[in-house]
Amino acid sequence: MISSPLIPVAGGYIDGHWCAADGGQTFPVINPATGDVLAQVARMGGDETLLAISAASRAMANTPTIEKRREWLENIASALVKNRDEIGRILCLEHGKPWREGKAEVDYAAGFFTYCAANIDHLKSRVLEERPRGCEWRVLYRPAGVVGLIVPWNFPIGMIAKKLSAALAAGCASIIKPASKTPLTMIALFALLEREVQLPAGWANLVPGSAGAIADALLTHPDVAVISFTGSTEVGKELIVKSAAQVKRVALELGGNAPYIVFADADMDKAVDQLMVNKFRGSGQTCVCANRILVERSIAAEFSKRLTIRVNALRLGNSLDDETDIGPLVDRAGYEKVRHHLTDAMAKGAQLVAGAVADALPPPLEKEWGGFFPPTVISGVNRTMACWNEETFGPLVPIAEFDDENDAMLKANDTEYGLASYIFTQNSARAQRFVEGLHFQHVAWNTGTGPAPEAPFGGMRQSGYGREGGIEGLFEFVDVKTSPVGI
Ligand code: NAD
Repeated sequence: MISSPLIPVAGGYIDGHWCAADGGQTFPVINPATGDVLAQVARMGGDETLLAISAASRAMANTPTIEKRREWLENIASALVKNRDEIGRILCLEHGKPWREGKAEVDYAAGFFTYCAANIDHLKSRVLEERPRGCEWRVLYRPAGVVGLIVPWNFPIGMIAKKLSAALAAGCASIIKPASKTPLTMIALFALLEREVQLPAGWANLVPGSAGAIADALLTHPDVAVISFTGSTEVGKELIVKSAAQVKRVALELGGNAPYIVFADADMDKAVDQLMVNKFRGSGQTCVCANRILVERSIAAEFSKRLTIRVNALRLGNSLDDETDIGPLVDRAGYEKVRHHLTDAMAKGAQLVAGAVADALPPPLEKEWGGFFPPTVISGVNRTMACWNEETFGPLVPIAEFDDENDAMLKANDTEYGLASYIFTQNSARAQRFVEGLHFQHVAWNTGTGPAPEAPFGGMRQSGYGREGGIEGLFEFVDVKTSPVGI
């Protein structure tokens, strides 16, 4: 069992109080590296969600000033940075990622609160310079209402930071549903909100537990104005359908299938370096991980050779061990998906380049908790394979070759997803054509970096809609009102 000063209760937090589930039910949180049960957390449902919505509605009866909201945001950022090590430790124990990544994620999370605090003045009302119809036109940014925030397990503090920072900046109280694999990091955040930020009761409520029941309560309650969801495209589609009954606004950050394109004129060592960081962060369990590596045919063999040296040097291990480069996959389903992508590709003609051994491909995982999957590189990948069409979410690097610019563009865009993409070339005119032509929201040129708090990020196509980060993200939870004044 985990012991931490930041986990006072393995429960929810509603209306300023820690609480258990009404019926006393709990669910286990498991360390994916060891199978140890870290905690038994309250399994809440619809009734507790309704209490949380009432608390949030009451809190919103008085809109706090912009100055007060800025102060909350700044204090949350400071509290996160001050408690980086302990939050990072909790996060790594329940997720399995290496500790240095866990601590970096806490800083990344703090960055969203800092950015919103510094830019909250964009939410002040303004008067248009133009005066159509002889009127003075005012534009107001009002809090949309109570918001429901549903987050995944792969960035236990990063994903909620994007949403909660924008919600508080807008003046919206929230109901937060954490992922059931990683609720402890969220509990630690709430301990900070209570002790170090003194966020008043009702402004942030934590309801861990049954996803369907909690989401249904949020979707059907008239006080809930926006549901912001990060997770799989499958669940996102379900939310779109269910939100229709009340024309509920949904913001969706969904899955990806990122192409990583390397031209013969690229700085190859840089392309390899950046791929190592991009692909193996969180054991490959991120929505912006390179999913299909497209390499120009003339350099494919050399690229694979240089990549293989790096991949073979990676060390798998427990998250809190300083030597660890890659932790376990989060659970059996995650492990089996990567295994399926590997065996399917091999059966369809892909070749093993690094990592797993052909005569002993990783065996099925019998336990339910996480498993260590060897970082693996395969070549000869094509569009008939599952790893081309689906998000792998694991440390498998599938390499396909392309002949020319046109071929690269067609192959990269051969997916219904549209989240992140990467291109490596020294040719700036070509890079510009790809920035325009790739149907992905994030198009990185000569870098494997994902999103930053200062820049808008989100999906196109089946990767969803809505933006988080940047000035655009500040407007996610406001209603934009217009008031022409006759003068
Ligand atoms: P998931 O969809 O299974 O779960 C996400 C959250 O939704 C969890 O809290 C879960 O409990 C909840 N949930 C599950 N079923 C639900 C339902 N029927 N109604 C409402 N909520 C429900 O996703 P996951 O496995 O936790 O996360 C991995 C996915 O998230 C990947 O596809 C990844 O690409 C995506 N992701 C996207 C982004 C982005 O910014 N676009 C960022 C991180 C992760």
